[in-house]
Amino acid sequence: MIRSQKLDYSRLRILIPGIYNESSLGKFFIQNFGCRATQADGAALQSLLAAKGLDPAGRRTAADLVVLNTCTVTASADEDVRQTIRRVHRENPAARILVTGCYAQRAPEELAALPGVEWVVGNSHKTEIADLVTSAPYHGNVHVGDIFAQRDFLSAPVEDAAADRTRPNLKIQDGCNNRCSFCIIPFVRGRSRSAPPDQVVKQVRGLAQRYREVVLSGINLGRWGREPGTRNGPSARLADLVRRLLAETDVERLRFSSVEPMDFSDDLVGLMASSSRIAKHVHAPLQSGSDRILRRMHRKYRPRHYADRIQAARALMPDAAIGADVMVGFPGETEADFEESRQFIESLPFTYLHVFTYSERPGTPAATDPNPVPLGVRKLRNRIVRELAAAKNLSFRKRMIGQTLSALTLHERGAALTENYLKVALAHDREPNRIVDLKIGGLEEGGVREVTSPAGLPWLLRS
Ligand code: SF4
Repeated sequence: MIRSQKLDYSRLRILIPGIYNESSLGKFFIQNFGCRATQADGAALQSLLAAKGLDPAGRRTAADLVVLNTCTVTASADEDVRQTIRRVHRENPAARILVTGCYAQRAPEELAALPGVEWVVGNSHKTEIADLVTSAPYHGNVHVGDIFAQRDFLSAPVEDAAADRTRPNLKIQDGCNNRCSFCIIPFVRGRSRSAPPDQVVKQVRGLAQRYREVVLSGINLGRWGREPGTRNGPSARLADLVRRLLAETDVERLRFSSVEPMDFSDDLVGLMASSSRIAKHVHAPLQSGSDRILRRMHRKYRPRHYADRIQAARALMPDAAIGADVMVGFPGETEADFEESRQFIESLPFTYLHVFTYSERPGTPAATDPNPVPLGVRKLRNRIVRELAAAKNLSFRKRMIGQTLSALTLHERGAALTENYLKVALAHDREPNRIVDLKIGGLEEGGVREVTSPAGLPWLLRS
């Protein structure tokens, strides 16, 4: 279903059926913004467009079709997208711009009004993009529908950061059934849905032929397989899938990107602890350590539940990386709430934190809260939690000195990533994409370094 739009279509270039020229699309370039789920969608789009006979362009300025696969998680993410649209239009005015992704789903009108934008396609219609751009338009060029009706699962493995081609990311779950009061994601990505297990096994099997480590990701990864009455069956759990992956593929290392705290079941934590093929890395979004704020955020756990899960993980995996997302400055967060949260964070064995400053997302309940925290206070709280995170990270890194850690050598020269998520400066160059044991000798800016030989002669270690 196409959402009816009150749009100024005169600002869009509408193609007239009959004179459409498919060859005019020529080369395409996809630019992804935001999270790993968006990157996975982008990789899938890349395959779909290539399957239609379009060629990838090496750079944006050489493309006839520029696809901007957007994020809308914060106001600055939106601004980033708008700036990019302007820049693409300026540097390559002949390029036809298609905007898709979460921002397109949330505010198609805003995007359609920008110069050079020819198509706006919400997540609801993302799977149709290759058809849309290679056939004459039929309903106009804004395609946004009811995201909650979306049942398709769009995903292809993606390589990690641009410079790091050693850790592909496989999205196996999309959407979210929660309604955290600050979050726009359920409204732009729809209900939770899962990649079928046989498909995941096949994809991981394929990836394992080229890569040592595969990162499993999702919007709400811990909900994988929970949709009732689907092909996954009523009782499938992430741990069940992981057992299959361990049994039926040769993947050397699996890593979970982020799992909501209450989905870190004893079963899942026990499996992580017992398998040397699962990275000892727990990332569980916290958001706040204040009971009152968690309730106002509509988060489904209380601080004591969260602490219980983290302590269970730490008890079984003493050297695991333990990370969380923390949000500061949520509307109505008083000094006392913030201090409660800070103390809670201090009490837990985190090894790193991702700290976010709350920003209003139109369309979410929190955005209309009458008690916003002043921006300056939000920034100050952000700094306080970042400093706490840095101190915790430093003490974790110090604790690793003298230990031997399993790590994946990266494409980035002289660097590796340990299973407990520490970047290591290698004592000497090694072939990328290998799992190696590294003895940690000291600290580096933001990471650690491999020990050199006792005489301080790294070349003695070369084989
Ligand atoms: S769990 Fe909450 S914060 Fe996370 S995607 Fe779902 S609604 Fe958003």
